[in-house]
Amino acid sequence: MANRKALISLVGAGPGDPDLLTLKAYKLLQQADIIVYDRLVSQPILDLIPHGTKRIYVGKASGKHHMNQDEINQLLVNLAKPSRKIVRLKGGDPFIFGRGSEEAQFLVKHNIDFEYVPGITSASACSAYAGIPLTHRGVASSVQLITGHCRADKPLDLNWKKLADKNTTLVFYMGLSSLVQLGNELIKAGLPASTPAAAIENGTTNIQRRCLSTLEKLASDIKTMSIQTPALIIIGNVVSFAEELDWFTPGIEKDAEEKQQVADG
Ligand code: SAH
Repeated sequence: MANRKALISLVGAGPGDPDLLTLKAYKLLQQADIIVYDRLVSQPILDLIPHGTKRIYVGKASGKHHMNQDEINQLLVNLAKPSRKIVRLKGGDPFIFGRGSEEAQFLVKHNIDFEYVPGITSASACSAYAGIPLTHRGVASSVQLITGHCRADKPLDLNWKKLADKNTTLVFYMGLSSLVQLGNELIKAGLPASTPAAAIENGTTNIQRRCLSTLEKLASDIKTMSIQTPALIIIGNVVSFAEELDWFTPGIEKDAEEKQQVADG
């Protein structure tokens, strides 16, 4: 087998709820020799990894050293061996604001094979668990996934006129820190200040919280609720369905309800 090349599986973990893993992702986690994972991979998903499997954490912990992208790329290349099953596990879908494609390019450049397992991205899962359909006939006919991340000290440079469309749902990843600018720019570009807007914190997990507001008030409401990262921002008329379609009870409340039912006999 001298010509066998090393292979790395780039795997999406989804946004948090372990039941949202694909079967393919689950199987690869069971078979892996080494799993290299990020901060956004939830604890219940890590709990599915067999005890003997080596895990390498490469995520950010505030204030502590973490690997930069070049170091992660190099680590994957160093680990790759034809006889090893390596899973590179990332939150959501690695090809959506996850740098998965940069890692794949680096592997290709180093003559290492990769396979790709898409994950459910937070736009689709967190919206769904918050009771917000991303499209709805007559309300929103398109969706835009946008990064709200900006480099320190630099304002977000987006085409606000193009984004300010009342028939489109806007989903901002990494948008918490630029929320004030984002709201102001969209209103300036013509989106009504009363447009429904939401933030979903820790979406799909048992500590999910929703902040339902308007474009004008979302930044201050988020502050009041002290919403923290990871949070997804959704702006558009579809957010107005969130009360009517509110189906998901985060686990803590659900567990309490179940216990109560048992106690009630
Ligand atoms: N590849 C990931 C996105 C990584 S960027 C995906 O496809 O989902 C990181 C951003 O994703 C966070 O800042 C947040 O905006 C969003 N995000 C990821 N997981 C989330 C979760 N459980 N709840 C809310 N937002 C989440």
